[in-house]
Amino acid sequence: MSNEKTEGVIIRLADFSESSKVVTWFTRDFGKTACLAKGAKRLKSSFEAAIDLLATCRIVFIRKSSGGLDILTEAQLVNRFRPYPGNLSHLYVGYYIAELLDALTEEYDPHPELYDAVCETIQHLQEQDDFQKPLIKFELTILEEIGQLPQFEYCAGCNGELGPAEAYLYDAHNGGVYCRDCEQQRHGNVRVSRGTISVLQKLSTEKTVLSQRLNLSLQQQREIRHLLSTTMSHILGRRPKMASYLKL
Ligand SMILES: [Zn+2]
Repeated sequence: MSNEKTEGVIIRLADFSESSKVVTWFTRDFGKTACLAKGAKRLKSSFEAAIDLLATCRIVFIRKSSGGLDILTEAQLVNRFRPYPGNLSHLYVGYYIAELLDALTEEYDPHPELYDAVCETIQHLQEQDDFQKPLIKFELTILEEIGQLPQFEYCAGCNGELGPAEAYLYDAHNGGVYCRDCEQQRHGNVRVSRGTISVLQKLSTEKTVLSQRLNLSLQQQREIRHLLSTTMSHILGRRPKMASYLKL
């Protein structure tokens, strides 16, 4: 057993007993970890109401050497998730992000860049009306971190140039779009226009894209949502629970 110190975001909460909870964190230094928070449900617990979905905290926990739950000993609130007011979209996007982190990352497999992206996304969801771009950027980042980012630059069939076309066929199974030649012999159920592919290239390669001016048309938003939701469902083997709440 060892004492570990890090910063983390709460991605799942479950009751454990009358007074305790199991808190799943996505931490900067250790990746995902599930900790038992004893007494977390008592009004005056030692965690000072830091335990809240998507809250960011500085934490100390005792890491169990084999199996079993880690034990949370300290949680100091850094940021409580307060979605941008107006409608519920920002809240649902937050829940969706928590669901993806829980489903797509492994315990004790750190991804510091993904952690920073999570904090940045939460910040955007609190401060900005536009939740589409931060959401898409986050999805592309997590796909890249787990080695599942679709190919938007070259053909997923022959690795050649995509060539000019109004729209391309996207195949989640093969993780990319096809050139004209490959398209004839392939399957895929998502059509993506050329403009949308350029936007996806930009969003997946440029680090500072969220601070740039980039307006997505409604058609582009719809195409990207369809493409990413098909991709996530393919990887998870089921549709994410929160996916149907991401209305456009
Ligand atoms: Zn091809």
